[in-house]
Amino acid sequence: MNNEQLWQAILGEVELNLSRANFTTWFKHTFISSCENDKVIICVPTNFVKTWLEKKYHQELSTAFKNAGQINIKEIIYKVETRKITPDNELPKNINNNKNNETINRPPILNRFGLNPYYSFNNFVVGKNNELAHAACQAVSANPGHAYNPLFIYGDVGLGKTHLLQGIGHELAKKTNKILYVSSEKFTNDYINAVRSGQAKEFKDLYRNVDLLLIDDIQFMGGKDGTQQEFFHTFNDLHQTNKQIVISSDRPPKAIPALEKRLSSRFEWGMTVDISAPDLETRIAILEAKCKEKNYKMEEKILTYIANHVQNNVRELEGALTRLIAFYEFNNTQPSIDTTKNILSGIISSFQTKSTTPKTIIDTVAKFFDINIKELIGSSRKKETVIPRQIIMFLMRQEISASYPLIGQELGGRDHTTAMHAFNKIHKEIEEDEKLKQTINSIKQLLYNNC
Ligand code: ADP
Ligand code: MG
Repeated sequence: MNNEQLWQAILGEVELNLSRANFTTWFKHTFISSCENDKVIICVPTNFVKTWLEKKYHQELSTAFKNAGQINIKEIIYKVETRKITPDNELPKNINNNKNNETINRPPILNRFGLNPYYSFNNFVVGKNNELAHAACQAVSANPGHAYNPLFIYGDVGLGKTHLLQGIGHELAKKTNKILYVSSEKFTNDYINAVRSGQAKEFKDLYRNVDLLLIDDIQFMGGKDGTQQEFFHTFNDLHQTNKQIVISSDRPPKAIPALEKRLSSRFEWGMTVDISAPDLETRIAILEAKCKEKNYKMEEKILTYIANHVQNNVRELEGALTRLIAFYEFNNTQPSIDTTKNILSGIISSFQTKSTTPKTIIDTVAKFFDINIKELIGSSRKKETVIPRQIIMFLMRQEISASYPLIGQELGGRDHTTAMHAFNKIHKEIEEDEKLKQTINSIKQLLYNNC
């Protein structure tokens, strides 16, 4: 195993405990420059990242080295050093190092429509939980603008909404090049920037001149009135000319907080389908498909064991499998039920650490800013209290998708509009304020290390 492969294995393990954003923040542009005897040197791009890894991730990294079979390493040194960035090392790659199979390292580069080449219908496993959604997507691909318009897909995180949306994109890309895939956040940002820079016409030209508009995670448009108004007109324009619109969300249209009624009722004009958690057979089928993709063989009883223990989320199921395969490949051992049990117990507990609650968020923010909880949930209008309070509301929404009324209630019975305002404010500010962004990242670290 060379240094590059070793680092990919380590990152593969670390990634499982972190949100994508955090992972990218701390581990982008990192690499191992040397690993000799009992010493490894990890190069990082800035002093800030160096301090952070030393303080927060040292233990985790040292465990990850052990898990990757590097039991002799006694010293990890962090060094600020950059190397020339090529598309290959810009972002940590998928950890699998089998070079024979082209599909293993998912190309990080999106194609010109904003689609990830991996998310196609070919590698989507159909089960009872998603068959209706899948069939609707196929119908839309075969007959865009006419079968169901709009198609609205909803379901919990990690169940394949983005994959299906992009699957439609890939199918229709065979017939037209007027396709746009965007998250509702990107739509919002594009719109705000267009208005600010006097390019509203260009924005309209872009969004209203497509044959297929795929909007992911529309729930984030809740509370953004100006954007909703613009989207309403975009929707009408496209719909009237039989252009296909496909929307995803984590909940049904009417349940999206602070979404205009005229929008939620339009979302129900076509077809609304949900995706639920996969049953055992589907989970096994997904694991089999992923093994095949990775060109890796694992006995059915081991796959069944994994499927029995990771139940709610396909992303986690995939993560567990990737981590197991990495372990077996790097240690050059055959998978067995006993080692699987051992490794999986670590993985499952790392998933469980993510079960953050409103209380853990309040406690963590209080600890971070050294403010007492009574003051935080009380009525103080001091700046030192108001901002942490708003951060709590933001994190409750972003990290655990708490409803605005619940957030208000957890913070001393405040109105849901206060929670909504706080979320939108912080959400907007972190785009522009690097310091605030870092603060929130640090709080998240604390949150996930604590609970
Ligand atoms: P969501 O958008 O609902 O949060 P994603 O579409 O991002 O979920 O799916 C999470 C991961 O799980 C992706 O890597 C996706 O490819 C995979 N996945 C989800 N459902 C399936 C499925 N039925 N078959 C194969 N892979 C799936
Ligand atoms: Mg998604």
